[in-house]
Amino acid sequence: MTEPVATEVGRDFIRDIIQADLDQAKYQEIVTRFPPEPNGYLHIGHAKSIALNFGIAQEFPGRCHLRFDDTNPVKEEQEYIDSIQADVRWLGFDWGKNLFFASDYFDRLYEWAEKLIGDGLAYVDDQTQEEIRTSRGTLTEPGKNSPFRDRSVDENLDLFRRMKAGEFPNGARVLRAKIDMGAGNINLRDPVLYRILHAHHPRTGTKWSIYPSYDYAHGQSDAIEGITHSICTLEFEDHRPLYDWFIEKLPVPSKPHQYEFARLNLTYTLLSKRVLTQLVREGHVAGWDDPRMPTMAGMRRRGVPPAALREFVKRIGVAKANSVVDVGMLEFCIREELNRTSQRRMGVLRPLKVVIENYPEGQTEELEAINHPDDPSAGTRKITFGRELYIEQDDFMENPPKKFFRLSPGNEVRLRYAYFIKCTGVIKNDSGEVVELRCTYDPATKGGNAPDGRKVKATMHWLPAANSVPAEIRIYNQLFANPSPDASNFAADLNPQSLEILADARVEVSVAESNSTEPMQFERQGYFVRDKDSTPGKPVFSRTIGLRDTFAKEVAKG
Ligand code: ATP
Ligand code: MG
Repeated sequence: MTEPVATEVGRDFIRDIIQADLDQAKYQEIVTRFPPEPNGYLHIGHAKSIALNFGIAQEFPGRCHLRFDDTNPVKEEQEYIDSIQADVRWLGFDWGKNLFFASDYFDRLYEWAEKLIGDGLAYVDDQTQEEIRTSRGTLTEPGKNSPFRDRSVDENLDLFRRMKAGEFPNGARVLRAKIDMGAGNINLRDPVLYRILHAHHPRTGTKWSIYPSYDYAHGQSDAIEGITHSICTLEFEDHRPLYDWFIEKLPVPSKPHQYEFARLNLTYTLLSKRVLTQLVREGHVAGWDDPRMPTMAGMRRRGVPPAALREFVKRIGVAKANSVVDVGMLEFCIREELNRTSQRRMGVLRPLKVVIENYPEGQTEELEAINHPDDPSAGTRKITFGRELYIEQDDFMENPPKKFFRLSPGNEVRLRYAYFIKCTGVIKNDSGEVVELRCTYDPATKGGNAPDGRKVKATMHWLPAANSVPAEIRIYNQLFANPSPDASNFAADLNPQSLEILADARVEVSVAESNSTEPMQFERQGYFVRDKDSTPGKPVFSRTIGLRDTFAKEVAKG
């Protein structure tokens, strides 16, 4: 199922709420935040959240904070903090001076926890994790009170301070809110506020032996920063009563509200940091920036323009019900943007040698090629024609079926920007494979038109043998072969053909010599970008995306 495209781009239920709040003069300024946990690289789902939160701050009087939710030092790393900042900037958003860390609030959160204890609203529980889990009850059965629930304020304070001082081992005790073990909403059954964790934190070092839970840290961080609209994904809807409970019980400086929207799901894609981390750690991909990854780093390396991602998240809109977006929609946005912005070049993916028998040996000539068909300001470049050329293997068939209009014995075709050629002979190797074609050209067709008005049915790309360069071209297909991969057993759904390496491709000299990281169109083939694995002797190009949606057609054919 495809999420309906928002009819009025830029309008959604969250923006409607904000507009209504402004109309009622509830706020002077709208303050949002993007709150990643630095436990992995950002993916395209995050792009939706970033564009929503930062977009709102641009459209309304307001600002958007980048806040790292760094409350679990076991999983968090500086590398992720750095990559997240680079990715948000790459996507085109800026937090200005509003960079924050939940760990900046650890002292205040701790004081407030002592206040909850003092007010009889929190207690230290000595039960094991397993006991806490089993006594929490189920959706149909209430939970059971902990035997430690009625400890005195003094005992709780003493134990909590000793937890903080590092006196107890990991997991020995937790601090829990004292709400209601019979509450219909399981999140209100005495949720954990602090756990003991003797771990080094990237920012606070070894200062803390206890760390706050997400539920406890998140809303209070919002309140400290003066966030007005705390926008998160739907799985937190049932946490909202708890979010509100803390805001009501604590002397927080502002009263934020939480709103939930549907997270992005994409066909053929898994957007879970747990899965993405495993893909990297288990070596299924070459790293977080592997061009097959749905991470922003992967897409950047693959040549996806940030404008295409912004357009994509605008088109899918923001809804309140979960759905799955067809990955074809993302690909469409990438093609649209690259078609508009990228220069045209020629590359031959699987070269087949052609000798023009009636072209004088040793002679060459310069022909003019245009860089962008819709943009004359992109200019032109020269390509060298000569006796020996390469065409695409696919563009020749010795015994063609009826509708094959490209090169075959006796058939005439146009070489782009050059001449009409006709195939006069085929040379094969010992195994019977075609290794070289003998052709003739018509000198009267220079530039690609016959003075006698005769037509050809195909125009093919080509490269001169002497004035082109060997290159490696990497073709990427979907990382998963299953349109809805199983997150709990994703390895079984991996596409064994997700990477195809064409080691003997060729590209124009100018393409090989340029160090530009701008994607280009190789005519008739798709969009390609120079990869960081290039060496001086051999450039490597990644295919960002093909020209047409052949994948969807293959799937439809079954
Ligand atoms: P996981 O991928 O394991 O679910 P996470 O992506 O939720 O983890 P966070 O760093 O907490 O990790 O996410 C930061 C923000 O991005 C959160 O506000 C979260 O709601 C939002 N977000 C995460 N995934 C998506 C998604 N697929 N679509 C939209 N927003 C998302
Ligand atoms: Mg999360």
